[in-house]
Amino acid sequence: MPDAPSPLALNADLHCHSVVSDGTLTPEELAARAAGNGVQLWALTDHDEVGGQHRAAAAAHAQGMRYLTGVEISVTFCEQTVHIVGLGFDADDAAMTQGLYDTRGGRGKRAQEMAEQLARVGIHGAYEGALKFVGNPELISRTHFARFLVERGHCRDTSEVFRKYLTEGKPGYVPHRWATLKDAVHWIRGAGGMAVIAHPGRYAFSANEEYALFTEFKGHGGEGVEVVTGSHSPAEFIEYADKAREYGLAASRGSDFHSPDESHCDLGRLPPLPNGLQPVWELLADRIR
Ligand code: AMP
Ligand code: MN
Ligand code: MN
Ligand code: MN
Repeated sequence: MPDAPSPLALNADLHCHSVVSDGTLTPEELAARAAGNGVQLWALTDHDEVGGQHRAAAAAHAQGMRYLTGVEISVTFCEQTVHIVGLGFDADDAAMTQGLYDTRGGRGKRAQEMAEQLARVGIHGAYEGALKFVGNPELISRTHFARFLVERGHCRDTSEVFRKYLTEGKPGYVPHRWATLKDAVHWIRGAGGMAVIAHPGRYAFSANEEYALFTEFKGHGGEGVEVVTGSHSPAEFIEYADKAREYGLAASRGSDFHSPDESHCDLGRLPPLPNGLQPVWELLADRIR
């Protein structure tokens, strides 16, 4: 008899974005693309919003995939923005829905301030321009400004826009206070889900700050960390596999796909998790639909 397939070999993609936040495809288009790329277990993780979850689950089932509910919550920790992914929660949970609504709240004003700053360096009409790319008016994000600046020819691609305009110290960057780490983890757990640190390799933390992030996250009840993500280099797959073992966290895998035109990592096209890790989907088995 052949060996049972290792849970590590499951083609799970548990991180991506639709038009409900800053992706360019609908949940249905993403589901079709994921299934076409061989994804077996999928989660849509829009920023600070669960409004696409019922559509995504239905689309996943129509494509023959299994589904976990998902969200990516913006958090401020040590003066930086950290993303916490939630998986396998009740998408209709009232406390989580309210918390996410409050987290989204400052985005409109922030976007207007970003546009004012860009106008001072000669880029006019950025607020209206970014809005044209927005699928959900409550979720105007830096990504939508980046698409507008590319459309206007200010930069070749969105990465260049972030480098030149939208990151700390650059003319279109407006600092913002998001949810606390504790609140984000508690909303996810309160709704019956698992909290996962998203793309830890992307933060510019000192070793001490990263230690604080992992230990406080665990202290609040966080259980997972993204190891194989479109935001990590192969060296970071190894580095964060070690950290998952060191901190006793389950490991997640997700492309962070946003758009066929922008994302270098397609849905379902990541290497498997390294050996010796516990995949988040093992702990979430009873919440897979
Ligand atoms: P916001 O939530 O409005 O601050 O926007 C954050 C989003 O911007 C992230 O979820 C990514 O989609 C995108 N982003 C952040 N940094 C970069 C970058 N360096 N290049 C391209 N996109 C980025
Ligand atoms: Mn995004
Ligand atoms: Mn993120
Ligand atoms: Mn993301």
